[in-house]
Amino acid sequence: MTEAKRVAILGSTGSIGTQTLEVIRQHPDDFTVEVLTAQNNCDLLIAQAKEFTPNAVVIGNPENYNTVKEALIPHDIKVFAGQKALEQIVEMETIDVVLTALVGYSGLLPTLSAIKAGKQIALANKETLVVAGDLVTALAKEFGVNIYPVDSEHSAIFQCLVGEFHNRIEKIILTASGGPFRGKDREYLQSVTKVQALKHPNWDMGAKITIDSASLMNKGLEVIEAKWLFGLNTSQIDVVVHPQSIVHSLVQFEDGSLKAQLGLPDMRIPIQFALSYPHRLKSDFERFDFINYPNLTFEQPDLKTFRNLQLAFDALEKGGNAACMLNASNEVVVDAFLKDQIGFLEMSDLIAETMDRVDFVSKPTIADYIATDEQARIITKELIKRKY
Ligand code: MG
Repeated sequence: MTEAKRVAILGSTGSIGTQTLEVIRQHPDDFTVEVLTAQNNCDLLIAQAKEFTPNAVVIGNPENYNTVKEALIPHDIKVFAGQKALEQIVEMETIDVVLTALVGYSGLLPTLSAIKAGKQIALANKETLVVAGDLVTALAKEFGVNIYPVDSEHSAIFQCLVGEFHNRIEKIILTASGGPFRGKDREYLQSVTKVQALKHPNWDMGAKITIDSASLMNKGLEVIEAKWLFGLNTSQIDVVVHPQSIVHSLVQFEDGSLKAQLGLPDMRIPIQFALSYPHRLKSDFERFDFINYPNLTFEQPDLKTFRNLQLAFDALEKGGNAACMLNASNEVVVDAFLKDQIGFLEMSDLIAETMDRVDFVSKPTIADYIATDEQARIITKELIKRKY
């Protein structure tokens, strides 16, 4: 690449954020860090800022503002605090690409303002597209912004599509590891704990996405994310369980040919590709060897036991603000499960019940999405209080 890309990382202290900085650390001629942001983790944010000397940092929680400011003022790094600052900082002229690695719904508004400022987006925050995929993709089109997927499955599809942009997709096949509870029945799932759910067999990720992976909600959110990223109908998206997580997803074209992207499960590859596209940069990440994986296996997902995936397909089919309800309710139940307030299977029950109760809007505006998110959270919280 010729000039270094100037990167803003929203959520730099999380799993994706720290791995993004690993990629940048290995390619100092290709990338520079312009902005770093964190919600609460000031110690790590300060350490990252001292190493990468961004122009500015944002600490989400205003209570931590003074700590961060005192530490970084001598380094001539600007410090801001709060949600509004997050939405404004992405407009900075010196940013080329915004990598959004915020957790959940919180990623929506900063991503929208980055798009309006004409910044390219490397999207690790799938919930942004789940909540308001129609608005986000329409806005990206209007402002000539490309959204590069960081999610490994969507990166795989994107990589399969390079050189194929004029060819129609017949369908895509998203692979799912199946998580720690693959093959288990509802009776078993009745009593599983968060400690069990937090043990993902192949990927080391943040708590929210790990629970989502165990419940297959992560795959459901990814189905919705794929619809918007690649402009597909629900019937063009299949999910297959592939426990080894080597085939990261596939595209089937109209001639019946399938393309897949393979590799060891390592998020640094999709992160790096989202930042370096259309180039591929040299890396020393561990290479895949077929000899270590004599069997790559594939099976049907169990939509009856793992109801969340079915709920996501239903929400997508319903359209309007249904996926926004699904996402908001899911964030509340995952939080409650992590606090031992509800059981594993109750998460799906609560989401389904919430979706029956929230007001349906067929053509939502951004204000509708914000209201839907709020209403769904309130309803789910009330249901938890009443029942458990
Ligand atoms: Mg994924």
